[in-house]
Amino acid sequence: MEDSWKKVIDDELDVFFKDKKSCNHNISKRLLVYSLEWLSVGYFSALYMAGKKFAKNSLAGKCGSDNMADANAFLEDFFVEAELGELKLVGESGARYVYRLENCSSCAGMCPVEKQICYFEAGIIAGFLEAKLKKRVVVRETLCGGLGDDCCEFVARAG
Ligand SMILES: [Zn+2]
Repeated sequence: MEDSWKKVIDDELDVFFKDKKSCNHNISKRLLVYSLEWLSVGYFSALYMAGKKFAKNSLAGKCGSDNMADANAFLEDFFVEAELGELKLVGESGARYVYRLENCSSCAGMCPVEKQICYFEAGIIAGFLEAKLKKRVVVRETLCGGLGDDCCEFVARAG
């Protein structure tokens, strides 16, 4: 794990220094997330809890509607406007929501590390849904650039 994060960061910097203009990723966010992971694997849960806390206690309050169609549209717009990537709700059944995230600012095109890494984004979805559904929500990332997938997928379950 230790060496794979060095490889991920070296790979990002190689792309960045080769052609800074064509590097459309948010390099500062990526370096922050990857360096946190390199520092300690325990940061996965810290990133998730951080995303969850801010989305539940702050972001959700900016969305005036508790109607889930409106709330999901707000969340999708937020992801685009905050340059996190293009989020889309692709499945919904009962207490289960499935989202795809294209061009994820954390993992799109990254050097795969055999695990999912978008815990901050997963936490944002969890916190936002908890506030809107007024239920406990757990989000798991099932596809990720960290796993070599070409988009992220998040499965949210409300309990
Ligand atoms: Zn991801």
